[in-house]
Amino acid sequence: MIDTNTPPGATRRPVPESEFGGRLTDCFLLDLTVAEVVDRSARLRSITFLSSDLIGFGWAPGQDLMFEVPGGDDRTVRRRYTIRRSDPERGTLDIEAVLHGDGPFARWAHGATAGDRISAIGPRGAIGVRTDSTHHLFVGDETALPVTAAMLGALAPGAQGVAIIASEDEPPPATPDEEAITWVGPADVAHTLAAVELFDDTVAYLNGERSLVREAADVLTNRGLSPEAIKTKAYWRRDQANATHGEPGRD
Ligand SMILES: Cc1cc2nc3c(=O)[nH]c(=O)nc-3n(C[C@H](O)[C@H](O)[C@H](O)COP(=O)(O)OP(=O)(O)OC[C@H]3O[C@@H](n4cnc5c(N)ncnc54)[C@H](O)[C@@H]3O)c2cc1C
Repeated sequence: MIDTNTPPGATRRPVPESEFGGRLTDCFLLDLTVAEVVDRSARLRSITFLSSDLIGFGWAPGQDLMFEVPGGDDRTVRRRYTIRRSDPERGTLDIEAVLHGDGPFARWAHGATAGDRISAIGPRGAIGVRTDSTHHLFVGDETALPVTAAMLGALAPGAQGVAIIASEDEPPPATPDEEAITWVGPADVAHTLAAVELFDDTVAYLNGERSLVREAADVLTNRGLSPEAIKTKAYWRRDQANATHGEPGRD
């Protein structure tokens, strides 16, 4: 681990209007240094970044950073990772990345070591905890563990969170935010969801591989949850690299 003494003064710059068609002017350009790498399980790697750009950096649970990594040829590609936690006083921020094997970000994360530099843009993402509900249901695969844990940790006192994560892997030891999570095999998502108790004000947050998100949305729709109560975000698509902007490509 490198020295995490607070670096002097925040330096982050807003994304200029001339970039991204002016859509990301509420985001910042962040120059980050890897401070620490910890493997939570065989395939889940926690990476802590340190930067003066992160001092006083604000974000809402559910939001992410969009990183720039070498695409393998001359291109740079962007990949998005949920903000798991941060310490705006020290200027640190954690993500948790699935080391799935062969992809530009997975390769970068596999080799990440303290002192490495990386550029990111954030905070991104518009789906946060719905404050008008007391019942929250989270469904996803292991790429959704960070967003699920961050949002479970942000529920209002008295609100109830239930979470289902589908994975073939052994789950990592649960942090306090993760105790409400049930781990199931990928083939068990539909029938587990069919048995979950739903309430009039249940809001469902579905994140992860595209077909899992679609399958979960279908089950919940068939059980009577309204489209407004189902928040979906496809994070990746099996056998297809994400597009250069960091999300699964369209058909
Ligand atoms: C808003 C948002 C937040 C996200 N947050 C997280 C997060 O916190 N943690 C996290 O781990 N991921 C997260 N993801 C998913 C992550 O960005 C994708 O998995 C991404 O495809 C990884 O990029 P890559 O360059 O490694 O692989 P790509 O170049 O996109 O894909 C290369 C190959 O790997 C496969 N692949 C991609 N991801 C996986 C996987 N997880 N398991 C198995 N095969 C895979 C693809 O199908 C493709 O065949 C998030 C995505 C979004 C859109």
